[in-house]
Amino acid sequence: MASIACEPQRATELAESLAEVRQLVKNASERRSEQQSFPTLVAVSKIKPASDVMGCYDAGHRDFGENYVNELVEKAEILPRDIRWHFIGTLQSNKAKLLAHVPNLYVVQTLTSAKAATALDRNLPETRETPLNVMLQVNTSGEQSKSGLAPLDVDEGGEHEPSASLEVVDLASHILSSCKRLHLLGVMTIGSFEASMDDSHPNPDFETLRKTRDVLTEKLKEKYPEAQWGQDGRLLLSMGMSSDFQAAILAGSDIVRVGTSIFGQRPKKEV
Ligand SMILES: *Cc1c(COP(=O)(O)O)cnc(C)c1O
Repeated sequence: MASIACEPQRATELAESLAEVRQLVKNASERRSEQQSFPTLVAVSKIKPASDVMGCYDAGHRDFGENYVNELVEKAEILPRDIRWHFIGTLQSNKAKLLAHVPNLYVVQTLTSAKAATALDRNLPETRETPLNVMLQVNTSGEQSKSGLAPLDVDEGGEHEPSASLEVVDLASHILSSCKRLHLLGVMTIGSFEASMDDSHPNPDFETLRKTRDVLTEKLKEKYPEAQWGQDGRLLLSMGMSSDFQAAILAGSDIVRVGTSIFGQRPKKEV
């Protein structure tokens, strides 16, 4: 079994960068005009060793994000059970079973197909007491390199075609009607980084996600007046990474996913 103890010097470094990022999250959330719960900071530990996760854990952190099913499964096996794992990578439905068996998997943020939703739902072990949270990934920037469903009702004249596509509504409907053990928590996006280098040029992709969430909520209320979703009835927004999490919080984000600013640069090879 790999050692999960964190070297004291690395632990100090991680505790410091975590404290800095937490402070920035707090500052940004205090600058919001609308009343909103404190954002969840997900520490994205992909490619980083389990000992790094342990360093953050010892500094009191519990929410961690991973992109690869095998890596998440391996880390979850050796790390403490009260960690809340967020899956944020591309999910192939043939890996859904493996992922569904992680007892402390908290949310799959990157759902894009009914097939994967069904596979997760069917493969959750009997012993799991709580539903599995899921979020729908939306491709707000329209870049072909990013996965995700088409956004809803984007303004004409913008960079996007006004979309007639209702795939977000269709997938949400499938979850509410046919996946009894899944809980629809919200929507997630990556967006394009270039658009958000400073506060004075807010990233339009964040607005697009928000709009998608609002339109989706309206449509679901019509179709499923009895159903429950989100947190306290609100579908959550997962948006914002190292380069833009403060802007994302100002734009209403509920969940930010921060890797590099906490753990340092990753090797170049990954996407
Ligand atoms: C890697 C990754 C992150 C974290 O990115 P950083 O720029 O290192 O903060 C967030 N979200 C997703 C989906 C990722 O793949």
